[in-house]
Parts: sequence; structure tokens; C-alpha cells
Amino acid sequence: MSKELVFGHQKPDTDTIAAAMAYSYYQNQLGYETEAVALGEPNDETKFALDHFKLAAPRVIETAANEVDKVMLVDHNEPQQSVADLDKVQVTHVIDHHRINGFNTAAPLYMNVRPYGCVSTILFEMFEEKHIDLPADLAGMMLSAIISDTLLLKSPTTTDHDKEAVYALAKLAGVDYEQYGLDMLKAGTNLAAKSDNDIVDGDAKTFEMGDLTLRIGQVNTVDLNDVFARQADLEKAMESLMSENGYDTFVLIVTNILNSDSDLLIVGKEADKVAQAFGKELGANKRINLPGVVSRKKQVVPPLTEALG
Ligand code: MN
Ligand code: MN
Repeated sequence: MSKELVFGHQKPDTDTIAAAMAYSYYQNQLGYETEAVALGEPNDETKFALDHFKLAAPRVIETAANEVDKVMLVDHNEPQQSVADLDKVQVTHVIDHHRINGFNTAAPLYMNVRPYGCVSTILFEMFEEKHIDLPADLAGMMLSAIISDTLLLKSPTTTDHDKEAVYALAKLAGVDYEQYGLDMLKAGTNLAAKSDNDIVDGDAKTFEMGDLTLRIGQVNTVDLNDVFARQADLEKAMESLMSENGYDTFVLIVTNILNSDSDLLIVGKEADKVAQAFGKELGANKRINLPGVVSRKKQVVPPLTEALG
């Protein structure tokens, strides 16, 4: 059996890194030869988790076909979120918690896709099913991933599976998940060190809705003013990304992780329609306030798809 690479999506988040590491470990226990790699450097939040559990970041790759014939995907399936030369390798396994979109294969494969809050939760259950012991450091990374994807179990994407996994993984990792989780999320909100482009586009994804190409980014903070003090510069960054990449509309979700509220900054075509999708009027400051909204996938994309699609 030849070696396979395991990786998550571009612009890796904590789940993408943790899930690649955990799934590679799992497959190696079952006799595969795999290596966890990443399609980019870890972000500040992920670095905090890796440092805390004294683990090295996975090696970064640009392409896969120069190294292997087969790959395993975690935390994504849409080809445009994956490695650039995905069409030149065979995908043998997919573990994901996103919609399936634009994903086709020539050969049969293993897929485990569940509507959980985090891929690391799916993996936690897979380890349990096969009775594979989780090392404390890897359990800590998977815990970090669930805390990240569910914003400390507060996001509406959170399922009972995620909660059970967090309690069990916190025990294995030997941490108080609430204290550790807040410290980790805060480490990811060091916005002063980030460029305007990083803030608006660091976590952004593209969505086609009706005739519009929307770019939707999200940034976490402990104080909305840390972001909006820079609003004029952020808008400039959004405008140039739109003209460079052909996006019609750019939405930046600014989420306060302490009280689970978000402000949306909306620029470009049909900005008023975007605001109206949430029952709001867009003010002169181009922002709307959405109390209780933290999830792009569950609370922002669906009303937009409904209104624009
Ligand atoms: Mn992810
Ligand atoms: Mn995820």
C-alpha cells in the first residue's frame, strides 16, 4: 500500500488541522501509511492549541500529485476549497460536516459525512467505534477543534454529539474546557497584528446566489470596536478583493465571542437586499447588528440563499 496524504481545506482552521492529524493517526493505527499535511500555515488560534499540547504543525503542501497518487480529505469536499491539483489524484476517503457540492469521483470511496458541529466530533466517535485509544495531546487538538467550530458549544451548529465529545476529550486532555476554550478563542482574535486583507478574507468563502457571487468572511473578536475602528480600511480591502476576483457583494461577519452577537459589514451590489434578508435596513455605516448570530453556515447563508437565490 502506498502512502496517502490527509488534509483539510485551504486557509486551514483549527478543525481542518486537528482533523487531518487525528484522521491520519487513526488510519495509521488501522495499517494505512498516511501523513497529515496542510494547505497553509496554522492561524493564531490553531498555533495556540498546537503550542498548548506541544504538537508540531503539519507540513504545508502546494500540490499533492507530485508526492502521492491517493489522498484523504477532511473538513471539506468542494474542489475549489481543496488542493490545486485535486483532479490529478484519487480521493479514497472523505470525512466532513459540510454540504456536498461539486464533488465527483471516478472510483468508489469511503465517505463519512454527518451534520455535526465539527469533523473532530465525527472522528471522536470513529475512534470509539474502533476502540482506538486517543493520546492526550491529540485529544486536546480535537477538543480545540470542536471549541473553535462551535464557539464553545454556543453556535446553533452544535449537536449533542459535539457536547459529549467535548466533555470526554477535555477529560482525556486534562483541561477545563471552558477556561482553556476562552483562552484559545481569544488567542485567535489578536486583530492588531492582522492586515486588513487577513481580517476580511482570512476565513472567507465564495457563494453563488442567483446572479450574484457573494464573498462572505468572518472574524471573531472580544470587542467589535477593535474591528470597526478600521472600517474605512477594511472596506477598501473588500472593494479591491471584489474587483480583483469578480465578487459582486462582500459580507464581513464580525462576531463577538463573549456575547455571541455579530455585526455584518455589507458592501457591493444589492447590499440593501442582503440587509433585508435579515429583516434589517442598511444604515449609512453599512452595518447591521444581529444578536445571537454566530454561524455563517446556519444563520447567515440560509437567509441569503432564500432572499437572493
Ligand atoms: Mn473548517
Ligand atoms: Mn469543521
